[in-house]
Amino acid sequence: MIKGTNPLLSFQELEQMEKPNSLPILSAIVLLLHVSTSLATTSGNSFYATFLQCLQTHTNQPDHVSDIVYAQTNASYTSVLRAFARNARFTSPSIQKPLLIVTPQSQHHVQASVVCAKSIGVQLKIRSGGHDFEGVSYVSQGPFVILDMFNFQNVTVDMQNEIAVIQAGASLGQVYYRIWEKSKVHGFPAGACPTVGVGGHLSGGGYGNMIRKYGLSVDHVVDAKIVDVKGRVLDNATMGEDLFWAIRGGGGASFGVILSYTVKLVPVPEIVTVFQVDKTLEQNATDLVVQWQQVAPHTDDRLYLRLVLQPVVKGQKTIRASIEALFLGEANELVKLLGEEFPLLGLKKELCREMRWIDSVVWWVSYNDGSSLDELLDRSHYWVHSNKRKSDYVQTPIPRKGLEWIWKKMIELGNVELALNPYGGKMNEVPSDATPFPHRAGNLYKIQYTVGWQEAGGAAEERFLNQIRMLHNFMTPFVSKNPRGAYFNYRDLDIGINSHGKDNYQDGQVYGIKYFKKNFERLVKVKSEIDPENFFWNEQSIPPYPGHKKLNRSIHSVNIATFI
Ligand SMILES: Cc1cc2nc3c(=O)[nH]c(=O)nc-3n(C[C@H](O)[C@H](O)[C@H](O)COP(=O)(O)OP(=O)(O)OC[C@H]3O[C@@H](n4cnc5c(N)ncnc54)[C@H](O)[C@@H]3O)c2cc1C
Repeated sequence: MIKGTNPLLSFQELEQMEKPNSLPILSAIVLLLHVSTSLATTSGNSFYATFLQCLQTHTNQPDHVSDIVYAQTNASYTSVLRAFARNARFTSPSIQKPLLIVTPQSQHHVQASVVCAKSIGVQLKIRSGGHDFEGVSYVSQGPFVILDMFNFQNVTVDMQNEIAVIQAGASLGQVYYRIWEKSKVHGFPAGACPTVGVGGHLSGGGYGNMIRKYGLSVDHVVDAKIVDVKGRVLDNATMGEDLFWAIRGGGGASFGVILSYTVKLVPVPEIVTVFQVDKTLEQNATDLVVQWQQVAPHTDDRLYLRLVLQPVVKGQKTIRASIEALFLGEANELVKLLGEEFPLLGLKKELCREMRWIDSVVWWVSYNDGSSLDELLDRSHYWVHSNKRKSDYVQTPIPRKGLEWIWKKMIELGNVELALNPYGGKMNEVPSDATPFPHRAGNLYKIQYTVGWQEAGGAAEERFLNQIRMLHNFMTPFVSKNPRGAYFNYRDLDIGINSHGKDNYQDGQVYGIKYFKKNFERLVKVKSEIDPENFFWNEQSIPPYPGHKKLNRSIHSVNIATFI
């Protein structure tokens, strides 16, 4: 139950209680009793007019509201839609487009958007950086509106308290850059790709190359601001422990609109070391991978050794194993450490590059094109192409024979690559129920499957999707079981969707257990309390408990009736 909220309060009492932060929900309902609530009978133009009128009624600057709403007829509609649509699979003309795109500039705009979308009865998709692998933030089967948070880009770094307040629409590159502006010995543990948005990344977990030293991004969140289904702005003090827990890994989009996260910064040394070593099968890559499995999840937690496996042609078809490393320390120490623990790597100091932590961020993302640090602020620095990802967790080392089978399959398929991200270190120390992200101790590494393509058309798509699904299927004996785990931020609609209706608990359980294991039940409990009518839903959202909605609906309608 949300702290301070009693579901039996009348709407008048709720309104009083919610001031000054919330919108006059009641007047929204009254207004909307007078407008058509049937989207089926509402034409595009009248829908736009209805939505706009509602927003104008609920914001303090009604004259400017039309600047933030893009109807399909607006000349900028397509460019706004595409600006943060990061997967070309979901930009083709056959994909259903939003009725409107709302680009709020203030928290009042967000509050009004939630109240209006709910009252009108239209689905709201929330987008921050648009990196969702299945386009869930900007695609839907039914009529929908996108709430695009890209204007929420402020990152305020407070070095006295070693925290940063990060708005949901900021990118990770902006976060890293703004921290570096204030301190050369602080950083933040999050993803490698600078254009990824904070709203999706932090609400879904967030890992990067400091995971072994510092765990996930969500392990460092100390406060958050969210707009809930009633249009209220809640923070850590007012949202209650359960909701604060849920939005640190359970995905924000099931619970409300995240406005910002406040995070604790972590120390980084003045000099870090990076290197990359590539070996093909002909250069004993198999032995290297066998030893990597013994070393990477157990070594010094300042060291992250990512392993990327790709089918390539080097005279003949083969597998290339690339080890990409970040060490939070100097090269001499690293060379000595790996000489003892990982002799097959044969690391020499000449292969290492010492640099500032912020430069390692640029190095890691392969901006080897002379890019300056300023590129971290450029949200358009992204190659949009069609792709599909999947994930798995490995809990026991894959034997040599198994690796050889995998190489054969990868070569036969031809286009799917695997990135192996080692766990251990801090990941072993955080309990699996501390946040909704459950895949902690007991996992040696996570596998990310990737296939990307540029060819247009359904036939190409089917061919590449088949490849990645076949490899995922082939890997079954080597990965976690009962459930077969998956990482929520690596969205994969293959593992289940709520195809029997958005409230279907059984459907939700299918994907929910894979993403969240036992934490799924607590997420359902939070959902049932914060959003019992399931306004905030998507293809893989957390459903409320069966029956919960009915109970709360009757409370809701009594209150409306009382008011009328
Ligand atoms: C190139 C690339 C590299 C990646 N690298 C990493 C990595 O290193 N580590 C890692 O952990 N992940 C990584 N990811 C996955 C990434 O973390 C997720 O896709 C994440 O959800 C993206 O967040 P976003 O805001 O950019 O996406 P969006 O598509 O905007 O949102 C993703 C989901 O979050 C919801 N959401 C977004 N904003 C809000 C909000 N303000 N309030 C409530 N819900 C919201 C959306 O509705 C959607 O369900 C990568 C993805 C890509 C495409």
